[in-house]
Amino acid sequence: MTPLIPDLYSFTEDHGTLLERKNGKKGRHGVIGVVHREEKPFWSHPALITPNNFKYKSLSDFSFNIAVGCAHGCLFCYVPSVSATKLKPKLASYGVTDPDAEWGNYALLRTWDERKFLASLRMAENTPSSELSLDGNQAVIFCSTTDAYQLFPAASAEQRNRVNDQAKFMVRRALELIRDHSTLRVRVLTRSPLAKRDFDLFRSLVTAFCSG
Ligand code: SF4
Repeated sequence: MTPLIPDLYSFTEDHGTLLERKNGKKGRHGVIGVVHREEKPFWSHPALITPNNFKYKSLSDFSFNIAVGCAHGCLFCYVPSVSATKLKPKLASYGVTDPDAEWGNYALLRTWDERKFLASLRMAENTPSSELSLDGNQAVIFCSTTDAYQLFPAASAEQRNRVNDQAKFMVRRALELIRDHSTLRVRVLTRSPLAKRDFDLFRSLVTAFCSG
């Protein structure tokens, strides 16, 4: 899928925190595409490694999700119906009233807290194999409810640079820490050619790397 690029957005003074899609593309359920934010482009919780309880998917045992929402907004995406809607009350405080219908129009980057990330990495590393899925490969998936490689919208060019630099840093740092402090595997699931920027890291993960 062609990644969204900053030129597709413009700040609309009358909506304050809303950005409008210039290309007139329709939203997930025919809603006219209004791209939110972002005076608040950061989700309040940090990005951590968490168990995902996947069964019979042969994907991973753990997830690392850098954001709530996804700027790619694929029409077939299962995430809004099984995950994002659970966050509806909290998403409302970010201006998202219908997480499913507005899927693709919001992407809120989680914060980075290295101490908490390392604690979550230790939790994953120390999880007994008896508690892991038979087909999970002791892997961490980047990502299961968003995409690690996307361009985040924001209300100004300055903020957009800030949030996208932070996303870039967060993904690289997490990959480095997993490589250097664990025996976990990494699976990258992405729709974006932006992943090319981390090919050097993928190579350094050697046998721990799975793609998909
Ligand atoms: S890239 Fe993945 S998470 Fe994002 S909308 Fe598409 S299917 Fe969903």
